[in-house]
Amino acid sequence: MSNSTSRRSFLTKATIAAAMAPLATFGRGLETAIERTPKSSAPSDLKITEVKCGYSGGGLFVKIYTNQGIWGCGEGVDAISGTYYLIKRISNQIKDRNPLNPNRIAEELRKANFFGGAQSGMYVAVLSAIETALWDLTGKALGLPIYQLLGGKFRDKVRVYCDTELYTRNNPVPDDYAKAALGAINRGYTAVKFDIDEATDPNKFDRYNWTASNAELERMYEAIAAVRKAVGPHIDICVDMHGRYDATTGRRVAKMMEPLNLMWLEEPVPADNIDVYKTITQETSTPICAGENFYLGYGYTRLLSEAGVDIVMPDLQKCGGLGEGQRIANLANLYYVPFSPHMVGSFVGAMATAHVCASVPNFHILEWQTLSDTEPKWKEIVTYDKPFIEKGFLTVSDKPGIGVEINEEGLKKYAIPGVPFFE
Ligand SMILES: [Mg+2]
Repeated sequence: MSNSTSRRSFLTKATIAAAMAPLATFGRGLETAIERTPKSSAPSDLKITEVKCGYSGGGLFVKIYTNQGIWGCGEGVDAISGTYYLIKRISNQIKDRNPLNPNRIAEELRKANFFGGAQSGMYVAVLSAIETALWDLTGKALGLPIYQLLGGKFRDKVRVYCDTELYTRNNPVPDDYAKAALGAINRGYTAVKFDIDEATDPNKFDRYNWTASNAELERMYEAIAAVRKAVGPHIDICVDMHGRYDATTGRRVAKMMEPLNLMWLEEPVPADNIDVYKTITQETSTPICAGENFYLGYGYTRLLSEAGVDIVMPDLQKCGGLGEGQRIANLANLYYVPFSPHMVGSFVGAMATAHVCASVPNFHILEWQTLSDTEPKWKEIVTYDKPFIEKGFLTVSDKPGIGVEINEEGLKKYAIPGVPFFE
């Protein structure tokens, strides 16, 4: 070897070493991908062959299959029932497409079906599942976790709050609230959420009117005061009114809860009227949170530009998917508003959301359900080899794609009878 060749070789190695050094800060995912990536490969001929789906409870689970034996999975929630034939239509629309451009395919599907309902509701919930599966597929094809595809991560694990199981009971008393809060804290959580809307409250004077009576207001306050007393000043408490009440009640509850120092009061009024949200948000020191019933980035523009809320909580299994979720988070960040996603799906949806939470600076906290800790169903329907949550945090997967799979065998036990299941 001549001196010049040897020197060139040394410089090349030194250059590569210098270029690779910063990668350590981006996580193992990128390093692994670079090691695996063929340096002179032909353009990929990866193609979508079919989309299949299954339904369980309020959840839609999709798989996008390809001609190379890999698939992507995604989840949608809420407005998804009766959408089997919509999935089949989308399957035909994206058949033979290369899946490696999730943003482009999701935007084309949205625009192509604009007058078929692609602004909100059922169509966008389904699109969210498809879009997520495209990200999962892209990550698997390239050997990268989704957070890396989204620009890398700000954090390795995301904090979660525990939505207590009290939402399954009618008319719990303050002691039930306190016990449920302590139960969550004993499992390692540092933040809890409780529902205070009660359609069956005996103190309601009218089934259809949602102006809370004084006795109802007292019930709400006593329940959350019991929680605060039980957990002390440093545990975070969220309170959800599920968008049921009128403006008068929303304003009164927000003011009434001020001494309890909540992390937030969620949807004190329905999602439709941003002017009312703005009024409540501006006249109380209780942080107001909303957004689980808004769709696409457009749903958040006025909410943010007019300071309608203090915290946004898009549901990424419903509002448009992972790319749209990241765009909403970035929009919120421009208004210094925290991003605290709503999440009522399985661990597939939770981990998919967590990749977005890792990728934005203004992530605050992610929703998690007590029932996902206690009901066997939630472990049976997914494939994942570690605990879901540890000490109130979800560790973001470094595996390619989402890092969690749908377990079809487990899910089939809970499938909706009479609805095709991955057919
Ligand atoms: Mg809610």
